[in-house]
Amino acid sequence: IKSKLPDVGTTIFTIMSQLANEYNAINLGQGFPDFNPDEKLVSLVNKAMLSGHNQYPYMPGVQSLRIAIADKISQLYSQSYNPETEITVTNGATEALMSSILSVVHDGDEVIVIEPCYDSYVPCIKLAGGIPVFVSLTPPSKNNPAYSIDWNKVKNAITEKTRLIILNFPHNPTGLTLKSSDLDAIEDLIKDNEIFLIGDEVYEHIVFGNKPFLSLSTRDFLASRSFVISSFGKTYHTTGWKVGYCSAPKALTAEFRKIHQFVVFTVSSPMQYAFAEFMKDPATYLNLSSFYQKKHDFLYNGLLNTRFKPIKSEGTFFLLADYSDVSSANELNFATELTKKHGVTLIPVSAFYKDSSALSSNNNLVRFCFAKKNETLEKALQVLSTI
Ligand code: GLN
Repeated sequence: IKSKLPDVGTTIFTIMSQLANEYNAINLGQGFPDFNPDEKLVSLVNKAMLSGHNQYPYMPGVQSLRIAIADKISQLYSQSYNPETEITVTNGATEALMSSILSVVHDGDEVIVIEPCYDSYVPCIKLAGGIPVFVSLTPPSKNNPAYSIDWNKVKNAITEKTRLIILNFPHNPTGLTLKSSDLDAIEDLIKDNEIFLIGDEVYEHIVFGNKPFLSLSTRDFLASRSFVISSFGKTYHTTGWKVGYCSAPKALTAEFRKIHQFVVFTVSSPMQYAFAEFMKDPATYLNLSSFYQKKHDFLYNGLLNTRFKPIKSEGTFFLLADYSDVSSANELNFATELTKKHGVTLIPVSAFYKDSSALSSNNNLVRFCFAKKNETLEKALQVLSTI
């Protein structure tokens, strides 16, 4: 069979989780919580099922959920989206990414992605007939122990063929967030052309240091060109329920829904009714940053007592650490051996680069997921302190 994605194998998250299962390892690899969602949310799903919400819901999503999402965005980011024509409930952020990329990318269009990048972007671009153009974050160095972004590099990558720029903040895997000056720079990138943006903002409610999250939707001009994507999986500890959403201006949403209706048609009904009810209380998402900040700090401080050198994260439920004092193996080999020999599973950061075997993508960094019970983090730290 002639493959449409000849360079694509199985995603690193599945590979590492399978390896973790095989070796009965502590899995701090794939990003999912090892604890349950709020019982109230679970009982709201049950209630929705018992009250008969078990058939196809309306194609763009249950109305009360779209209204609740619009209200939240208006409260937090002062942007008004019409829930009838500008908000669509999706099968996780994953479907929203695929549907938005397919909506605007034509054969031969260029799409700028920032490396390291989440692994679904490039296959989606290729299936749309687009050409990915990579711009790298500046990796950590002795003088600057964190990743940083140089918007001039993004500007230099823009050509007449550029159709779309994919942005992901808070950023997986580095945890980078945006400052107001970054939003200025992004406005500057697209003010004299017709380039669209995707804002992959699935970690919007996990931002550290008491800082507000700066969504692309906080700026009218950016919102007018953007598909802004989020995920209930990250916010409510329900990655397996696969519910997310996409907010975009009417003309973009119209194209988006043409694709959404024939990829998934609609999204699980009882979950949508439950989220609509649950998210009416802002405490359900406003407390998430402090919940995860404690886990971040616990893992970060614990790693200081090992030979791993952790890098502070500004958001997401991930942090990176340098392992060059532990091993000189490349990232994939190191992560594989760590699972097999020591029973702790992490993600090699090189997996977030187009050429994961290139020297430039192997910076002796591994990604830790800290969406785990404290006892799980403690057990992992205990093992890591011995190597
Ligand atoms: N986004 C999650 C991560 O970065 C994984 C999701 C998936 O496995 N598709 O770990």
